[in-house]
Amino acid sequence: MISKSLLLPEPASPAHICPFDQACSYLEAAAKELNLNQGLLEILSHPRKVVTVSIPVKLDNGEIQVLAGHRVQHSDVLGPYKGGTRYHPAVTLREVSALAMLMTWKCALLGIPYGGGKGGIPIDPKRYSVGELERITRRYMSELIKDIGPAVDIPAPDMGTSSREMAWMMDTYSVNVGHAVPGIVTGKPVSIGGSLGREMATGRGVMIIVREALAQQGKSLAGVRVAIQGFGNVGSAAAELLHLAGAKVIAVSTGAGGIFSEVGLDIPKLKVYAAENRKSIMGFPQSVPISNADLLTLPCDVLIPAALENQITEENANQVQAQIVAEAANGPVTLEASLSLEARGVTVLPDILANAGGVVVSYLEWVQGLSYVFWDEERVNREMEHLMVQAYHRVIHQSEVRQIPMRLAAYTLGVGRVAQALTDRGLYP
Ligand code: NAD
Repeated sequence: MISKSLLLPEPASPAHICPFDQACSYLEAAAKELNLNQGLLEILSHPRKVVTVSIPVKLDNGEIQVLAGHRVQHSDVLGPYKGGTRYHPAVTLREVSALAMLMTWKCALLGIPYGGGKGGIPIDPKRYSVGELERITRRYMSELIKDIGPAVDIPAPDMGTSSREMAWMMDTYSVNVGHAVPGIVTGKPVSIGGSLGREMATGRGVMIIVREALAQQGKSLAGVRVAIQGFGNVGSAAAELLHLAGAKVIAVSTGAGGIFSEVGLDIPKLKVYAAENRKSIMGFPQSVPISNADLLTLPCDVLIPAALENQITEENANQVQAQIVAEAANGPVTLEASLSLEARGVTVLPDILANAGGVVVSYLEWVQGLSYVFWDEERVNREMEHLMVQAYHRVIHQSEVRQIPMRLAAYTLGVGRVAQALTDRGLYP
């Protein structure tokens, strides 16, 4: 049993599924499997640093609003903290802390020299003008300036942020230190040192892991029926690459609802449609509306939750009909739901493996930035695929050797690597 984190507030309500408690449950399960000692478990269950800053922002109407901005640094045992920045109304310090912890295990599992971090501001970015978002992002960055750096903590995009926000962050940091520092963020535009292939990386990684899982079952992507919740950066890229590989994407959704087509959606046309309709997919020709809840329980081969956490819970897990669930989002399947799916023989491809393509290409972007040598997209994709496929096979091997589900196998690899490094480095002083 882990003691309560001294750095974090209590969960909002006991009934609510607290993402940090959930993340600690995964850690505890891995620690038990690995027989880790209690002291190590205590260290790994606490974020190393939790920062909350005030962000006063002048709105376009002249009013001043003060927002909260979080950055949680979970572990830097293996290297600088690394993790996205989320703009979403549901952001809380506990959620950001859970996501920071996930990043630690993900980087360790993939064998890249980073620790885990995460940031977030509880806002709905759709309710702010571009100018307001720029002022919010720049003030957030400047408030954090003493806590981050290219060798300390490297932010990236997450829900509600994109290469645009990364460019503002890079510029703010660079202006403050007096010279261009491309290594301060990843996922930035190619014009300022971003990597080719980063935009599609997380979705590409999802496609690769789904392809490997199907291959394990003697199947290919051709003709496979796929439903995807979320049509943002990750969901739309996964949809496009799966479509290109011959899969039939029968349903996708956004926060406003979903669309369904029995014969499969024309994803390249849908991407154009969404771009022309301010990201809305509703009303796309030859499709019918479907709710987010119904999308999750559609008859299909592969289900890809690519939006929020806690979408598949004990309540709906037994209605999921897919044989493979690929966690493109972070934490979309609760622990109980995961156990119930696995008990029915459903393959759950865990988030720290399935959505790791983004952080892998972030790492490749950082390496290119540090070495001032930039690669073509084919090389970036090849290097990423190599790391993803290797990690997939490590997880399968661990799962077979220990006779444990894939999620636990992935966590034991990630947690085990960090615990070993912590043991080798020793405790200061
Ligand atoms: P995004 O903001 O680009 O897209 C999010 C999508 O989810 C949008 O289509 C949005 O409409 C939809 N959505 C929002 N609320 C919803 C709801 N209640 N029901 C259904 N859909 C809803 O974000 P993203 O970058 O694609 O990230 C999605 C998930 O993937 C997050 O969990 C994120 O942490 C994870 N992730 C992202 C990356 C990355 O590189 N962007 C990497 C790893 C993991």
